[in-house]
Amino acid sequence: MRLGLQISCELEQVKTLRPKSDGSFNWCLKVKCGSCGTEDPTWHQVSESDADQYSDVQGDVNFHMKCKFCKRPGFIDVVKGSSKEYTEDDSGKFKTIVSFTCKGIEPFQFAFEGGWEVKCLDSNTTFEDVDLSDDWVEFDGKSQLPVGISETKSQFVREPENKK
Ligand SMILES: [Zn+2]
Repeated sequence: MRLGLQISCELEQVKTLRPKSDGSFNWCLKVKCGSCGTEDPTWHQVSESDADQYSDVQGDVNFHMKCKFCKRPGFIDVVKGSSKEYTEDDSGKFKTIVSFTCKGIEPFQFAFEGGWEVKCLDSNTTFEDVDLSDDWVEFDGKSQLPVGISETKSQFVREPENKK
């Protein structure tokens, strides 16, 4: 199964918002079992650059877990090259910014944390490792304007397996 993570936020003087582009961004997810539906209360960090091998999966995967209730194993993999920018035109609307391949388990909640890159309107000033766990406000010295990100929301949507 393939799931897209959609985010929505209000951008102020922000041109683009995107996860750190080197693949080391940590997607902070809560995961549930695809068989019995048991929700794991722990937050897990899933990163494209962090992959391991498991006996019950072919190849490397980014995150692997056994359901604590029914013991069925499952995995989540970040689809390579699927992460996208959230731009000024997207402000206030949901947009898919990354996709996951899931088997046996699936994410059902996402937490905004650190690791975001923000480019400002007009000045192109860049802020790195922005933390969105709370409303974010800064002052862009170049454009002499306040910049900010607020009203963060997220949801998961089902995607066709062969989506590019
Ligand atoms: Zn289960």
